[in-house]
Amino acid sequence: MVRCGADVGEIVGSDRVEGVTFTNAATGARETLEVEGVVVRVGSRPNTEFLEDVLDLDASGRVVAGAEPAETSVPFVLAAGDVRAGSRPAVAAALADGEAAARRAMALLAGAPG
Ligand SMILES: Cc1cc2nc3c(=O)[nH]c(=O)nc-3n(C[C@H](O)[C@H](O)[C@H](O)COP(=O)(O)OP(=O)(O)OC[C@H]3O[C@@H](n4cnc5c(N)ncnc54)[C@H](O)[C@@H]3O)c2cc1C
Repeated sequence: MVRCGADVGEIVGSDRVEGVTFTNAATGARETLEVEGVVVRVGSRPNTEFLEDVLDLDASGRVVAGAEPAETSVPFVLAAGDVRAGSRPAVAAALADGEAAARRAMALLAGAPG
């Protein structure tokens, strides 16, 4: 069952989840839906507004950089993990990205050419 335009107000229950209350955005009516569990979807908008005038970002706000060598539009600034455009949003992918970026950082510090 999909409820669109539902503004969730409260998770209700005594010693376990028994329901959620929500307000129907279209009608303003308050309803309670009986459920046995709740999964909170926190969203995935990258926190990169402060980088808008600094680095190249894609339309979704992710930093444009290669997987390897992870370099952004600004020399010596690397991007890895979910924030990097094209990175798969999973822990294993973020780890691989981070490891590649760390290796590139070591090389840059050692004076390796790009
Ligand atoms: C609800 C949910 C469930 C998921 N389940 C799975 C799963 O089952 N398996 C799986 O593989 N992946 C899962 N993922 C994806 C996984 O969590 C991410 O791919 C992974 O955490 C990305 O790691 P990251 O280090 O790139 O980013 P993050 O883990 O998001 O870490 C980024 C860090 O940077 C901090 N930060 C943000 N802005 C700033 C700033 N301006 N200054 C300083 N610090 C800042 C944040 O607070 C955060 O600590 C899930 C994601 C979500 C949201």
